[in-house]
Amino acid sequence: MMKQQPRFEARWFYNLSLERLVPDDHLLRLIANAVDFAFIRPLCRPFYSHTGRPSVDPVVLFKMLLIGYLYGITSERRLARELSLNLAYRWFLGYDFDQPTPDHSVLSKARARFGPEVFESFFHRSIVLCREAGLLEEGPVYVDSTLIQASASADLMVPREDRAQPPLSIEEYVRRLYTENDPGSEDEEPPPPSDTGPSVRGRKRGEKVLPQPNRVLESKTDPEATLVNRPDFGRHLAYKAHVAVAGKRGQVITAAVATTGIEADEHLLAEVLWQHRRLSGLKLGDVVADAKYGTSFNFLYLGRLGLRAFIPLTRFGVMRKDIWGREHFRWLPEEDVYLCPAGEKLRRHAQVRGTQRVQYRAPRGSCAACRFRDLCAPSGGERTIHRSWGQEHVERTEALLAGPLGKQRLVQRKVYAEGAFGLAKELHGLRRTRFRGRRRVQIQLWLTAAAMNIKRAARQIASKGRPVAPALLAVVLTSLLRWLDSAAFQRPLNA
Ligand code: SF4
Repeated sequence: MMKQQPRFEARWFYNLSLERLVPDDHLLRLIANAVDFAFIRPLCRPFYSHTGRPSVDPVVLFKMLLIGYLYGITSERRLARELSLNLAYRWFLGYDFDQPTPDHSVLSKARARFGPEVFESFFHRSIVLCREAGLLEEGPVYVDSTLIQASASADLMVPREDRAQPPLSIEEYVRRLYTENDPGSEDEEPPPPSDTGPSVRGRKRGEKVLPQPNRVLESKTDPEATLVNRPDFGRHLAYKAHVAVAGKRGQVITAAVATTGIEADEHLLAEVLWQHRRLSGLKLGDVVADAKYGTSFNFLYLGRLGLRAFIPLTRFGVMRKDIWGREHFRWLPEEDVYLCPAGEKLRRHAQVRGTQRVQYRAPRGSCAACRFRDLCAPSGGERTIHRSWGQEHVERTEALLAGPLGKQRLVQRKVYAEGAFGLAKELHGLRRTRFRGRRRVQIQLWLTAAAMNIKRAARQIASKGRPVAPALLAVVLTSLLRWLDSAAFQRPLNA
């Protein structure tokens, strides 16, 4: 029989409780059981006056932010609406049915009031929680970066010098005013429209796109965002997120640094590792990253710290496969020379300008009559070899990467670090920045990472505390009922 739902009619009284309506396995209930948010109040106390109208509790503010990042609600107006409508969100914030939830404007005020240190401390607390939940331990650190599209259009860029000009003095302003409004010029015909006149985008029409647009152009809406044009990303204004993930199965984000979109990854390795060390309190183990980080400087840096690097070497240019490589030459460290297959010594010749490489060259005239010339130095001159400052560390890394552990580490990096970015973008709104300016994007990055860490820690704590898994309980109960029903149990009754 088809049932027809009667039209809704409000009743005067309801026998309801938010406590009963939120399921036991709801994520927010797991988080509420696992995290004591009281640590937020001492962090925020210095930013409030001891007099005046009572504010919204900072714990409520951070819980609001956490809900927004956990459920990927990127608009603060929409978040405020959802907080009012969703029962689980109300319960988590501590607001009953009949209490008005805070307005969206409290979030932007809080961001301006607290400053980045408070948000970094919140992120730090999420790492500590993961450690307490048993998710974080000493081991390899996986470093990677990803581009985040800025909340600004790449079509609204203006010449950089327009903004860089200092304000005019009063005398200069008046002088320009008279020059530009010369009465004699009124009789003249206005110049015909030209293709080379200024356009609304601040560029002259027909002007060629400059090879390095970030040097001469900047966004009107977000001057700190930089233009990135890559096949896998498109042409957008962007920021970059550099993160370290660590722990069992790389589940915990232990460092998060936001930079402009064109910042080179290799320059951020030291900062990311330092933040990982500072926030996690763990000693650094193996460092795993992709080839963008494989510069001589980074190998030298990690080698001097005594860390094993699982980073493929960055190779600039195309190496000719038909010419003997460095593996055909023997390095003699005590003499600081390379010994070639013909027995000649390649000595230190010059430091390559702007790089961390030294050039070694065969003695003048030695290669001209060599029987290996076609294989070793076919271009005509003396053969040269380049050696990086930390070449011994590079060779150690190459040996590590050739082994089974090296291959395993590189696969783990793909799964853990890139997996974290995938989740952050798909579920937690990191595909696009919510705010403008690097400082605010850094706050967004910390809050996204904190939300992901807290979610994992809460689930881990809940799974540990669960007395018996439901499936296991069902098996035990079924076995018990079968046993009760068995002949062995009934036999004495029939006897
Ligand atoms: S070409 Fe020059 S560097 Fe190469 S093997 Fe002969 S002598 Fe040695």
